[in-house]
Formats: sequence, structure tokens, C-alpha cells
Amino acid sequence: TAVLMGAALTLAGCSTSSRSGSSGATNSKNITVGISMPDKALQRWPSAAQDLKKDLEAKGYKTDIQYANSSTSTQSQQVQNMANKGDKYIVIAAQDGTTLGPAVAAANKNGAKVIAYDRLIMNTKNVDYYATYNLQGVGKLQAQAIVQKLGIDKGAKGPFNIELLGGSPTDNNAPQFFKGAMSVLDSYFKSGVLVSPSKKGVDDNFQQVAIDWTQKAAQTEMQTRLNSFYTGGKKLDAVLAPNDAQAFGVISALKASGIDPSKVVITGQDCETQNIPLIVKGEQYMSVYKSDKKLADTVTSIIYDTVKGKTPKTDSTSSNGQKEVPTVQLTPQVVTKDNVKSVLVDTGYITAKEAGLN
Ligand code: BGC
Repeated sequence: TAVLMGAALTLAGCSTSSRSGSSGATNSKNITVGISMPDKALQRWPSAAQDLKKDLEAKGYKTDIQYANSSTSTQSQQVQNMANKGDKYIVIAAQDGTTLGPAVAAANKNGAKVIAYDRLIMNTKNVDYYATYNLQGVGKLQAQAIVQKLGIDKGAKGPFNIELLGGSPTDNNAPQFFKGAMSVLDSYFKSGVLVSPSKKGVDDNFQQVAIDWTQKAAQTEMQTRLNSFYTGGKKLDAVLAPNDAQAFGVISALKASGIDPSKVVITGQDCETQNIPLIVKGEQYMSVYKSDKKLADTVTSIIYDTVKGKTPKTDSTSSNGQKEVPTVQLTPQVVTKDNVKSVLVDTGYITAKEAGLN
């Protein structure tokens, strides 16, 4: 009972968690939750794994964390192993959501429930739940920030020069972020307030802008565009960078070309520790915060409820091509230098020193 009470305190913010008698605490000891993460390259995934571990252990579950080193075959193998070992739940942030079908089929067959974390697992019936942040919402926040910062919402007519970047072509989330952004930017391209000298992606064509989720890929792409389209003093006003790793690469490319990044509106996502000082300095305008702590709480509640035989609370469904997967979509949040302190520091996500605030 002490374990349960502690868990209830830890998860006090979770509306879907429920409490029951001491039998839950005894049963939970036999439950292992496999956690399959894509890579350690991005700060986000190891930190998400630790948040999950903490929450799940507070409920008395064992955890088994594996990283796929950005390899789809490694991830499939790791998920298969988890299924073979008898893990009762497998939480997966997919390296490539389209390649996990056989592995999750094996998991379901062995009696494991599969929960897609952040990225949906595609084209299979063998995914039980999906916990994520509103994907198009992320792109909308990025695009709205550009529109506001350039004063377009207050009537500024520009024309402003913008470059669009997209995330990895193998990540099902990436086109969704782009779609959300284009739903805001499209009318400004049509009216001529926004112009993209490279024209890449302006027709809502995600394939034209899809590059790896890395600093290096974004730096190379930005450098190429600067060299090709921004000669002769043409001014760059904004860059839609879909995440912080890419934003970092964009900023490096700008600096290498002698452009002051604080004169360009650059977006991001994830609130990676290395980007926050750049936001505080004004070199990156914004990021989108998707607390992994909250997502971990959500996943833990889903598991806790199903262990108790209850149907977990979901708020929507997401089609993966084969199934409408019951989904919880959390709300992403904008971070600019004005709220770094209240959103990231005061909540204990990073220290004031890491943020470059003192
Ligand atoms: C996640 C982002 C992350 C990106 C790169 C996306 O699927 O939603 O938070 O920046 O992958 O890892």
C-alpha cells in the first residue's frame, strides 16, 4: 500500500490514474515495461526514457530501456526480444514507423500491449495506444510565431524572404508538423507577403524540404540555399526550422556566412538544453516545448489503467492506415525568451545557468 500511495502522490496530476487495493502493488512487481527509443543523439529520447522509468517504477513496474542507434533493424530486433522475454507492455518511439509491423505483431501475439510514444507506428493493427503531442499544432505554433514576430498579423506587407525546412522523410510526424505550419503560412505566400527565394516547399510539398533531423543536415541545406539564393545582398527574414537540432544547424550556417541570426526569425522544437541560451540571446526566436514528463505520465496512466482492467482515457483516434488507434494528444507550448524562466526554469526542467539567464 505504501508503494501505491507514493505512486498516487507522484502522479497526482494525472486525471486518468486510478487507485485500488493492495493487490495492484503485488501484481505490478511481475510487470516489465519495455521502452524502445530511437537514438541517444537527440537529448529528447534518453530524457524521455528516464521520465518513463521514474514514473513506471513509482507504480511498481520494472522497466527495460533499449536504444536503437537510429537503426530500424536494431529497433525491430529489440522489440522482438522484449516480446520474447515476456514484457507485458512495450512503449516505442519509432525510428521509422513503417518498419515495425512484424515486431509489434510478435509483441501482441505474446500478450504484450504496444504503446506508440510520440511517433505513430504505421500500417499495422498491432498498436494498442498512441500518446503524443498535437502534431499539426506544433507546426502551427512555429508558423504563428514567424507571422507575429515579422508583424504580419499587424499588417506588415513585406514581402519577407523565408526558407522552409522539414524533418526526416522516415518520420511520420515530420509531414504533420509541416502541414500545420503551411496551414498558417499558405495564405501569406498566396498574397505575396511571404516569398521563398528557393521556392522549396512553398506548394505545401513536404518531400522538397524533408531532411534528416540533424544539425548537420540543416547546416548543409541552409548553406547551400544561402549560396544559391541569397547572393547580392538579398535579406533572409525567417527560417521555418522544425526542431532545435535543425535550428542549431541553421544558426551555424548563418554565422558562417556572416549573417546575424538575431535578425532572422528562426523557429525550433523540443527546448533542447543547448538551444535555450540561443533563445535567451535572441539568436533563435522560439522553440516548442513538449514536456516528456507529461507524456510519460500519460503513458504510465494508460498502463496503470489497463493493468487494473480499466479502459484508459483517450481523447481521439489516429489512423495508421490499418487501424484507428486510441490516442492521447497533449498540447504543445511556445517558448520564447519571455517565458524561458517561467516555463523551463521555474518548473525545474533546466537551471537558470544552463538557460544562460545569469
Ligand atoms: C519528434 C520531435 C523530434 C524529432 C527528432 C519527432 O518525431 O516529435 O520532438 O525533434 O522527432 O527526433
